Amino acid sequence: MLRKLNIAIVGCGPGGLATALFLKRLGHDITIYDQYAEPLPVGSGLLIQPSGQSVLEMLGLLDSIRALASPVHQLHGISVEQHRRALDISYSNSCDGTPALGIHRASLFSTLLEAVEKAGVLIVANSELVSVEESENRITPVFERTASDASFDLLIDASGARSPVAGGKVKRLDYGAFWATVDMPEDHDVMPDALDQRYYRASQMAGIMPIGLNPATGNPGAAIFWSERPENADRIVASGIERFRKNYCDLWPEAEPFVSQLGCMEDLNLAVYNHRTGWPSPTERLIHVGDSWHCTSPQLGQGANMALIDAAALSRAFETSGSLLEVGQKYRKARMRHVGLYQILSVIFTPLYQSDGAFKPWIRDMVIHHFAGLPIVRKIIARTVSGKLALSRR
Ligand SMILES: Cc1cc2nc3c(=O)[nH]c(=O)nc-3n(C[C@H](O)[C@H](O)[C@H](O)COP(=O)(O)OP(=O)(O)OC[C@H]3O[C@@H](n4cnc5c(N)ncnc54)[C@H](O)[C@@H]3O)c2cc1C
Repeated sequence: MLRKLNIAIVGCGPGGLATALFLKRLGHDITIYDQYAEPLPVGSGLLIQPSGQSVLEMLGLLDSIRALASPVHQLHGISVEQHRRALDISYSNSCDGTPALGIHRASLFSTLLEAVEKAGVLIVANSELVSVEESENRITPVFERTASDASFDLLIDASGARSPVAGGKVKRLDYGAFWATVDMPEDHDVMPDALDQRYYRASQMAGIMPIGLNPATGNPGAAIFWSERPENADRIVASGIERFRKNYCDLWPEAEPFVSQLGCMEDLNLAVYNHRTGWPSPTERLIHVGDSWHCTSPQLGQGANMALIDAAALSRAFETSGSLLEVGQKYRKARMRHVGLYQILSVIFTPLYQSDGAFKPWIRDMVIHHFAGLPIVRKIIARTVSGKLALSRR
């Protein structure tokens, strides 16, 4: 068992907050740093897969999260050109049939933050990490504009896709998406309890998913998104909200009660997607969790889940190790297979749903039409999106 350590965590996302909770419970001194004046979540909704839910249950937070979320039983999509299903995954085909949870980021964030504050973890805002300095037995974070000579036994980098201290190349993906949060209309013809999408080939994608509570209004909410190339964003914004609503409803007329709630383009945020595979623990005193190690497009809905699983795996490595070197080795061993597999799956699947041209979406539609109905295929796919494929229990 390790002695009590003084640990800095950089980043107040799901990875950083969950890691802080786990390690605080093991008795370590934790300080979290974040670049923002006030830590806040950016964006709209996300799916917490059954794999991520297991981690929240370990932290005693799953019931609180469920109360703020909506169960999502199915991932469904239709190619409007082919009039065929291009996505058809039911969580009832996974091992125990647990659905995903659709939730607003702010709800996940505030639940984790509240637990971290209650545990007595110190959070230092206005601290933008730019580099680290390592000596033989200490590591010192260097912040932009903030002088601090605080040094630590270990620094855990949870600063996300744009981490300044993570290795590996970050590749910006060709497509991102506009996202918004709206209220769930009382009357609509979009599939309930599902993440539902419409595609024209793979160059247009519109999606809607229930997210439980809409924090802005206190009503049941939905996240809506529209796939777009980032270089087109300024033009789309300049074209105005009416044009946006028209394009969306031309692809998916039933979405009208959702998109009609958008009053102006400022109601939408552009999310840019990245892909990176770095190294989980490059040195004894620096460990990466979440997107700072492995970010992918959100196509498989795994990023936040992977960050939560990293946190649980790191905690387990702490519990069973006698040195930081051993922690790094065990953490790496526990996570490499799972992370590697989902990174590969993301590279394969993302272009089938977000890319130019007609060939890849045609392959997608044919494969799904002919094979996705087979019971064994349904099972494997459901287990994949549940996040449990190749998941180590160590
Ligand atoms: C549009 C979209 C939809 C998504 N949908 C899903 C989904 O359905 N399911 C899912 O599991 N995942 C989804 N993801 C992915 C998921 O959001 C990320 O994988 C997840 O948030 C990563 O968590 P993290 O803690 O590693 O990093 P982040 O959540 O990115 O948090 C990083 C934190 O570090 C802080 N920070 C950044 N740089 C610095 C710095 N230099 N110094 C100090 N602080 C810094 C930031 O302010 C932030 O608080 C989606 C992502 C996007 C963009």
